[in-house]
Amino acid sequence: MEFFIGWSHSDAKYCDYFENTSMLISAVPDNVRPLQKFDKQPKKLMIDSGAVYYVNQIKKTTVEKVFKKQLSFLEDATSDIESISLVQLDEPLIGKITLQDRYAAIERTLFLAWEFMNLYTKSNLPLHIKPMAVIQGFDKASIQYCIHELKLMGYKQFGIGSLLFKNAKEQLPLIKSAAQLVGSSNLHVFGVTGMTQIKEMTKLKISSFDSTRPTKAAAYYSVFYSKPFRTYILASSRVSKSGPRITEPLFCTCPVCLNNPNDILIPSPRKYMLLRSIHNYYHLKETINDVLLEQGGKK
Ligand SMILES: [Zn+2]
Repeated sequence: MEFFIGWSHSDAKYCDYFENTSMLISAVPDNVRPLQKFDKQPKKLMIDSGAVYYVNQIKKTTVEKVFKKQLSFLEDATSDIESISLVQLDEPLIGKITLQDRYAAIERTLFLAWEFMNLYTKSNLPLHIKPMAVIQGFDKASIQYCIHELKLMGYKQFGIGSLLFKNAKEQLPLIKSAAQLVGSSNLHVFGVTGMTQIKEMTKLKISSFDSTRPTKAAAYYSVFYSKPFRTYILASSRVSKSGPRITEPLFCTCPVCLNNPNDILIPSPRKYMLLRSIHNYYHLKETINDVLLEQGGKK
């Protein structure tokens, strides 16, 4: 199972620190030619539409605009990137309460998927650049319907979204039914944070997922350690969050701590938050690898 680190323009440059980084970057206005900013290219790249951002905009974007933006990212891509997925623009179910609104969002997502596939096909892109459809649904029946239609359009790679505001108990049955219908090796899960979900997704042999948790935790003055996975709050920060605090760095062989382990415990300025993100990423990745090994899965 592949872990894509969600990246935005002011985040730490994860791929510059590690080999084989998989990154998810959104085609939102603030992200301009992101690959130019890195010394090393990610190994795998997913460019999503930024649908969650655009859904809140009064002037909604178009499939064509988003696709153009996605292609602009690829102008700086080198052959070091093994695989690239371009994710269709979709209409997230966030905030859609009534059945009618939910079905309308699914229909809209399907229409956008159709438009996106047309643009993708016309563009004759190299084979390692693949289109990814977004499955929208709120129960098994709606997910099944959405997948059926997306398959008819020719999609082979799928991502499942709108899980952000659901808890693990609600998310997992939906992920499971999607995995059964498209094949778990063709399924990406968007925006995952919890360890419970990560463990369950490993069992289901899900292809990949993405998370921004290392960045978010760093911004909230938290540091991760692995073996076993733990989170600490910087003792020197004034956040009122409960939980164990850390005063001295623990043993760590991440690129940041090898240089100076005290750096990750300095709350601000931002430079230290970015170093903390790199350290957190390293430990989340270690933890995922341990889960995979435990379950006899592939790294
Ligand atoms: Zn470290």
